[in-house]
Amino acid sequence: MIPLSWNVSFLHLITGENMNNILLYVGIDDTDSSSGMCTTYITCVIISKLKDCGFNIKGYPQLIRLNPFARFKTRGNGATSFKLELKSLEEINEVKKIVIENVQRLSVLEDERTNPGVVFYDGEITSELQEFGLEAIRNILLIEDAENLLNKVGADFYKFKNGRGIIGALASISCPLDDKTYELLVYRVPENYGKPRRINHQSVKEMDKQTYPETFDNIDQKYITIEPHTPCPVLYGIRSENPEILKKAKSIVKVSEPMERSCVYLTNQHTDMHLQNVEKIADMEKFKCYIVEGTVRDKPQVIEGGHLIFTLEDESGEIECAAYEPTKQFREFVRELEPEDALRVYGGVGEGVNKKGTLNIEKFEILKLANLIQLRNPICDCGKRMKSAGKGKGYKCPNCGAKIRDNEKVRNKISRNIKKGFYETPPSARRHLSKPIVRN
Ligand code: ATP
Repeated sequence: MIPLSWNVSFLHLITGENMNNILLYVGIDDTDSSSGMCTTYITCVIISKLKDCGFNIKGYPQLIRLNPFARFKTRGNGATSFKLELKSLEEINEVKKIVIENVQRLSVLEDERTNPGVVFYDGEITSELQEFGLEAIRNILLIEDAENLLNKVGADFYKFKNGRGIIGALASISCPLDDKTYELLVYRVPENYGKPRRINHQSVKEMDKQTYPETFDNIDQKYITIEPHTPCPVLYGIRSENPEILKKAKSIVKVSEPMERSCVYLTNQHTDMHLQNVEKIADMEKFKCYIVEGTVRDKPQVIEGGHLIFTLEDESGEIECAAYEPTKQFREFVRELEPEDALRVYGGVGEGVNKKGTLNIEKFEILKLANLIQLRNPICDCGKRMKSAGKGKGYKCPNCGAKIRDNEKVRNKISRNIKKGFYETPPSARRHLSKPIVRN
């Protein structure tokens, strides 16, 4: 038996008193490892089992992406939750039993980095809880932060091993969703985990043609982005603005392997919820994500590995910005930037060469293009460009021999290969939380 710590603050459960129409939130996180499994899959299995037992799941389950810089994440730092309408304490206890048994059965508990947490809560989502949800997306939290709040609001929670998952489990329940998208996740049969996925790529292109932009980020040039490249149970995932279009999208995508189950999640993916506006570059901190304005200080340079780096500055300070190699063609836009270009940059501050960290660019808007001036020798009346006649002696035409005494060069404006506006990373390099321009 795996050690399980159980908070018994739900004293009314022990008393066995009856209640009417309870809304019970269930949050789950940190069940998987890089070698396999997926919290969304476990949640989908649990929801099926609960439905089979006659329980009523309210609305769509939620898939909430948390701070992309959280140290212990496996991949995309996602946590899940769902809510049920229940009538009695017996029902609550039955639900809790099914959830806990299945988290225990399906989690990769043998992996030292897997520390599942499960939260049950039947109260109001207060502003303090919402704040916690937002903090888990924008900041780095401790297990104690979640535990203290769970105790304060009288929620019931279960910690497997160190139970770090309670951070995500609580955030998934409490995160406010002013903007939202949906994702259909289709799962494979276990025998196929780790094997190449058999998805008809032509059908994915057809699905994209028929459903974009209601669905988005399906393909990236020739590359199919609905298909993960990890040994997880997900066969494919389609992201959308509304849940209705996902039925049509699923009917168009053809696969030649069995699908075990599927689930539509309501999610904060592609909402830019991780980004905070910051007035001064000097106020930016590592492991947080920002929208910041500044001026390009130096021409972007390619460094080893094909990454492109430049410095963004304002009166308060400067930060190194990077378009990393996986962002592929996005680097072509970054390469066109010049000193004095005014930008609004969207991205997260990760580890970098210096203490302040490096701003990993997700997208940028060019607010003002710098005037690029080239100083050249004047053109002669005969149409030929003149040559210097010697230091301080003006110019002489190599064609007709005409001379001018003036030493001034002519200022030519250089046209730019980039315009004002938005530029973003391609779907294959996009963060789960990053809002594509098509959603603006
Ligand atoms: P997958 O996407 O494959 O489901 P994952 O990338 O979501 O995996 P988890 O296995 O869930 O990664 O691990 C992330 C861990 O980090 C969880 O324990 C979660 O509670 C915790 N966590 C999430 N956000 C934060 C945060 N802002 N601060 C500290 N810990 C966090």
